[in-house]
Amino acid sequence: MAESTMYLKQLELGPMQNFIYLIGDPETREAAVVDPGWEVPTILKTLAQDGYRLTNAFVTHHHFDHVMGLAELLTSVDIPIYAHRDDAPLIHVAPTSLKPVAGGETVAVGRVSIQLIHTPGHTPGSQCLLVNGRLLSGDTLFIRGCGRCDLPGGDPRTLFESLSKKLRPLNDETILCPGHHYADVPTSRLGEEKQENPYLSVATLHEFLQLVGF
Ligand SMILES: [Zn+2]
Repeated sequence: MAESTMYLKQLELGPMQNFIYLIGDPETREAAVVDPGWEVPTILKTLAQDGYRLTNAFVTHHHFDHVMGLAELLTSVDIPIYAHRDDAPLIHVAPTSLKPVAGGETVAVGRVSIQLIHTPGHTPGSQCLLVNGRLLSGDTLFIRGCGRCDLPGGDPRTLFESLSKKLRPLNDETILCPGHHYADVPTSRLGEEKQENPYLSVATLHEFLQLVGF
């Protein structure tokens, strides 16, 4: 699918520099929201202005700044919420709305295919979304950084595995779309991160543990 045939919007919302993403198919006008943590009216208004109908939601992990808007969203639209099964029990919405996944699934939004990659470490059920050459990385990988692993459920060893075995092998041309606006640019190329991001380029677990302070 050519780049111009996908709708992708990055919105910086809320007081914690969160990036909320909208992904859609310009032909069918179906769209998904990723990590609706803040300002649900802005999310819905943006979709309405752009002429999209919200059909799915995805969350990259259970932390409140990524999921807090779900309940409010569900009062407006009845949509499935795709969350990894290891984080799903910590997401407080009606169980009938939750679609727990294991990683490796592909979910269609119109003709757009969203591939789910389980990347534990920041939380046990952290997941990244790979869609049309973009990696929506939540709090697993940031531009020149990575997610904290000192919070409850965090584990530096599994984070190293996720970064080195699941994300580093992805194509250099992949555009990294992180879960927070922590860098001076909103996106990066994965090839550049493999060179410049110490958390992604580090060769051994031992070095990684030193880097994250364990
Ligand atoms: Zn987080």
